[in-house]
Amino acid sequence: MNLSRRELLTMFLGAPFAMAACDPRQRDTFPDGEVVGQSAGLGHVLRENRNFDIAADRWESKKVVIVGGGVAGLTAAWKFRRDNFNDFVLLELEKEVGGTARSGVGEPVPYPWGAHYLPVPFQENTELISFLDEMSLIEARDADGEVLVKEQYLCREPEERIFYKGRWYEGLYLNVGASHEDKRQFGEFQKKIDEWINWRDTSGRRAFAVPLATCSDDAEVTSLDKITFAEWLRRNGFTSERLQWYCDYATRDDYGLKLDQASAWVGLFYFCSRVRKSGVESQPFITFPEGNGRFVNHLVEKASENIRRSQMVVSITPKVDGVDVVCLDSGELRGVRCEKVIYASPLFTAPYIIRGFREDASFAANEFQHNAWFVANMFLKDRPKPRFAKDFPLAWDNVLYESPSLGYVAATHQKGIDHGPTILTYYYPMCHEENGRTKLFNYDWRQLADVCLADMARAHPDIYELTSRIDIMRWGHAMISPRPGFIWNGVREKATQPYRNIHFAHTDLSGIALFEEAFYHGLRAAKSVVS
Ligand SMILES: Cc1cc2nc3c(=O)[nH]c(=O)nc-3n(C[C@H](O)[C@H](O)[C@H](O)COP(=O)(O)OP(=O)(O)OC[C@H]3O[C@@H](n4cnc5c(N)ncnc54)[C@H](O)[C@@H]3O)c2cc1C
Repeated sequence: MNLSRRELLTMFLGAPFAMAACDPRQRDTFPDGEVVGQSAGLGHVLRENRNFDIAADRWESKKVVIVGGGVAGLTAAWKFRRDNFNDFVLLELEKEVGGTARSGVGEPVPYPWGAHYLPVPFQENTELISFLDEMSLIEARDADGEVLVKEQYLCREPEERIFYKGRWYEGLYLNVGASHEDKRQFGEFQKKIDEWINWRDTSGRRAFAVPLATCSDDAEVTSLDKITFAEWLRRNGFTSERLQWYCDYATRDDYGLKLDQASAWVGLFYFCSRVRKSGVESQPFITFPEGNGRFVNHLVEKASENIRRSQMVVSITPKVDGVDVVCLDSGELRGVRCEKVIYASPLFTAPYIIRGFREDASFAANEFQHNAWFVANMFLKDRPKPRFAKDFPLAWDNVLYESPSLGYVAATHQKGIDHGPTILTYYYPMCHEENGRTKLFNYDWRQLADVCLADMARAHPDIYELTSRIDIMRWGHAMISPRPGFIWNGVREKATQPYRNIHFAHTDLSGIALFEEAFYHGLRAAKSVVS
């Protein structure tokens, strides 16, 4: 997009900041890099309305085809292999599997391209626990039966810090400079959260739990889905700017939506679903340098023979006795005849790929709306120098209070490598703009790298000299948007039912994008297919 640098920075980082950041000297040293990943080809191929007829010798037969190799598809494949079922193939569009949880290989450590942590599951989530056990992450159980994960896999201290007016402070809630009223409101907010943590319906279900399928559907809770989180805060008298920032950070971080775009139900889900009972800490985070890429690699290892990369599924035709799946493999069409399909791709794509779905839809696929993000991996020769001796030190998650980005995660942190080269992963949800996805693809590598560096430079003026390379992933359909009225409007339940012999499995089915939800739906679909 043809914009001046100042217009670009104003659009991404705000006018006051753009004025301050437009220092031409900063442009003398600019790192190398490129836009990586996501193939934009599927939309083009489908729009061409091609004929997908294939010669008889280009067909093969399998019992099951899994479409999509994100966490949901890979979990289904893992489950099949675990149950000694081998007559299936997983077809993944990209060169790399993992979807939004994939990672990159680098020096000194691997690094994430999207998802980067998993909270330790509650003891009830037995299947996820058994997966973590298979990865040898679990140490023991406590007296209440909750799992204890080995210390080296739990997020290392310091976990979070926040940059505000030139200084770094500990934690995510901005305590420094908080007024009496800010503190009072923060205390009241915690009380409200506690009430929801302790809330149970008549069947004993929690209001907010993971996986989402175990949450209560009582109207007292689901009515929270009808309003925005911003409205809920207003109704409860929470006007403190820093409390609102804290809640806005939460919805941007987990859902890619601002406070006034996300439903109150998902806002509260963020704060309540990972706390066992009031008064105890939220479940600790499991993380690795490459984030959830470690889980992806484990799933891949278990089903590697069944996984085919660079296979764009372009057509799925339900038949009386099965399903015909057609994919583009290095420009050539190939077909797989199967009995059943697990559709582990984003749900909005169903009408474009599944023949007959548009005319006879079992759910409204356009209700599954995604938002866009860009993620930048910055390769640094050395650590940014602290500006003040007493600044809070580099943490795992480093957040900039005055920025619309989410800040960055340090890949070396979990390894305890606190000196020398590092890789910082910068996250920017495109929720501040109308049509974020279209715009994202109009910006080139240089423009997005400029935004990232200019934003980082407010906390680290030496970032230009330290960064040797910056690669960028544009996630056009990064995650499902849990806007008001979506989670409990019934469309997810309908989409959970198979369409002919096609079983859906994607985190979209939960209305929120989380590893646990993708895992849950992959497993659910695998079980229903074999049954
Ligand atoms: C920036 C970012 C940060 C995140 N951070 C976290 C986090 O810290 N913790 C967490 O739990 N979650 C996080 N998430 C969400 C998490 O990544 C997802 O919920 C989860 O990994 C989704 O898995 P999935 O398999 O359902 O979907 P996807 O990851 O969307 O996978 C779908 C797969 O289908 C493939 N596909 C699509 N169309 C076709 C086709 N026609 N043919 C073949 N293949 C096709 C895609 O290429 C993709 O690999 C994050 C997401 C993003 C974008």
